[in-house]
Amino acid sequence: MTAVLNLVEHNLHEVRVDDERLLFHVPSSSLFALDALTASMIDSLRVEGRSAAQLRAQLARLFSAEEIEETLAELKTLELINDGGESAPPVLPRIDHFPLSTVVLNVNTGCNLSCAYCYKSDLATPAAGKKMDFSTARAAVEMMIREAPDEKRYHVVFFGGEPLTHRVLIEQVVEYCEARFAELGKEHDFVMTTNGTLLTDEIIDWLDAHDFGLSISIDGPQAIHDRNRLTIGGQGTYETVSKKARRVLSRYSRPVGARVTLTHGTHGVGEVERIWDHLFNELGFAEVGFAPVTSGDIDHFNLSAVEMREVFAGFKRLGEKYLEAALENRNIGFSNLHQMITDLHAGHKKLLPCGAGLKMLAVDHKGELNLCHRFTGSDLPVFGNVKDGIAREALGDFLAARLDREQTGCANCRIRNLCSGGCYHESHARYGDPAHPVYHYCELMRDWVDFGIQTYGRIIARNPAFIDTHISPRRPR
Ligand code: SF4
Ligand code: SF4
Repeated sequence: MTAVLNLVEHNLHEVRVDDERLLFHVPSSSLFALDALTASMIDSLRVEGRSAAQLRAQLARLFSAEEIEETLAELKTLELINDGGESAPPVLPRIDHFPLSTVVLNVNTGCNLSCAYCYKSDLATPAAGKKMDFSTARAAVEMMIREAPDEKRYHVVFFGGEPLTHRVLIEQVVEYCEARFAELGKEHDFVMTTNGTLLTDEIIDWLDAHDFGLSISIDGPQAIHDRNRLTIGGQGTYETVSKKARRVLSRYSRPVGARVTLTHGTHGVGEVERIWDHLFNELGFAEVGFAPVTSGDIDHFNLSAVEMREVFAGFKRLGEKYLEAALENRNIGFSNLHQMITDLHAGHKKLLPCGAGLKMLAVDHKGELNLCHRFTGSDLPVFGNVKDGIAREALGDFLAARLDREQTGCANCRIRNLCSGGCYHESHARYGDPAHPVYHYCELMRDWVDFGIQTYGRIIARNPAFIDTHISPRRPR
């Protein structure tokens, strides 16, 4: 019997950019411009399955036999066309090696603020917080080196609570790491997200001298920021944070990012742009990243379905601005979109949503290993400790559960290798199972990724210089 060729629809996704047809190759997260022959083949097979001979006969008037054979072979290799044969079931990698290049140190569960939406169930005041001691922090760094001795570069992230409430430990760790990594001939990075309130010129300069990557949590202009980011006594913190942010931005050598949390009460499509405008144009942050809360531990702060639609509409509106600027070779620091463009350009194919549990683990004050900073203090069992190392079997089982998409809605999703089922912490909060995919805003995510593909396609077509200047490699503003 003659084999019938069919399109493998779940491996291809077409996006139109102006008059051009772009093909998003789902398995590799790569983007191609469709040439006339490939487009004709796809169109023909989309109408109905055909044998190779029928396809050749149909296309022979316009294309040479050689071109047709070549394209057909290529589309089969890319698994965009099959001939009805059973495709081999995907071979799932079993992860038993963890290339740990990042440790997140939860230096103090305490925080000097009391933000209304804070998800940290173990949060306390700075004095009552559980503080990490130096021997635990040192053991965490040594565990990372032991678990992944071949890494070239290691990242040490300071997290809390508010990390600057335990500055003495940060200083000890920095001193230790600088000597230790130099001795090993390894590169390193220090990273910190802070609420900004404890920054002084002296601390800013010290962080700068040790080359910290710095982000400040700030939710926008005063009326928005002060809705939730409060002192323990319930006062808004905008005045202090914005003053400190200006100070940092006036003297810090590296670009500083703003981290914005979007929760229930976010008003309308325009709010995303308003927040970005304030943080980027008025305060001068280099990047603004938005974290929409959809499945926090406190239900009341989760964005409603309507609000989520508005947030994504707001992202697209700001995305138009990003594109407009990119065509003039400017980066407006909208990091949600910038990161997606970076991933698309690099052709990143993600089998897992993030590095948590694979390249990164978060260490709590007891030295126990958590998937990421959001799980410290949660009820999810830990995956070993800094002394005995990673509980390989348990962590391997956990990752295997997420890698196996066969019985999930992700199996044929067109953004499966970009979203990869979504954040484990959201899944844990929403479904009580971190391996469960985050299904509640898939359509919005797919639409957002389409927008990213279109934006990327337009930049590539009209101003590829933007990619060279701002994407590969990423450069400061
Ligand atoms: S969680 Fe939803 S959007 Fe993400 S890969 Fe799965 S089905 Fe697709
Ligand atoms: S699990 Fe979620 S919160 Fe944790 S690192 Fe991954 S994406 Fe971020």
